Amino acid sequence: MEVEVKLRLPDSEAHQKLSDILSPCHANTFFQENVFFDGANAKLSSNLAVHRFRFYDDNSRCVLSLKAKPVIYNGISRAEEHEEPFDPTIGRACVAEPWRLLAVDSSEILKQVREEFGVGEGGLVCLGGFRNVRTVYNWEGLKLELDETKYDFGTNYELECESLSPERDKKLLEKLLKTNGIEFSYSKVSKFAIFRSRKLPDS
Ligand code: MN
Ligand code: MN
Ligand code: MN
Repeated sequence: MEVEVKLRLPDSEAHQKLSDILSPCHANTFFQENVFFDGANAKLSSNLAVHRFRFYDDNSRCVLSLKAKPVIYNGISRAEEHEEPFDPTIGRACVAEPWRLLAVDSSEILKQVREEFGVGEGGLVCLGGFRNVRTVYNWEGLKLELDETKYDFGTNYELECESLSPERDKKLLEKLLKTNGIEFSYSKVSKFAIFRSRKLPDS
């Protein structure tokens, strides 16, 4: 189970202000490219499953993931998550020709896509995706991820934190933002849901 605090920032100024404040705690910046797949007849999405490749810094790293039954409430998101490292070159070939993905034998995730969700030969389609600049900070014992997500219909800003004590950590993050006069709201939908809706959230 993946549990994350997710706070949405209203604009690039709020994002810039928070990056400035957190800069002494900077750990990493990743240029991520997320590409999504579904089965024919929306076999995965109709079962609330999200199947994704994430490429890091062009082709330096690639992670295959499957998230199922995501729920987001009051700025805390919970989902069943499986992740596997994947060969980036083969990953790119699978994006170009999604049928290649189902032919990969070595992956537990793809086994689950085939067996649990019944996605068969030729049954995977690429949905496209979006880019995300993720800046990682080590702050007060937490790993904060500040995201600038670039859709072709606009840019969304979000602060995320994977957490074992989400209610407590949400309060810490809210305090950090409030103390510094940074506006925020609880994220109500996932980045994938925003991508599929083709519009940024209203608040
Ligand atoms: Mn995760
Ligand atoms: Mn996340
Ligand atoms: Mn995460």
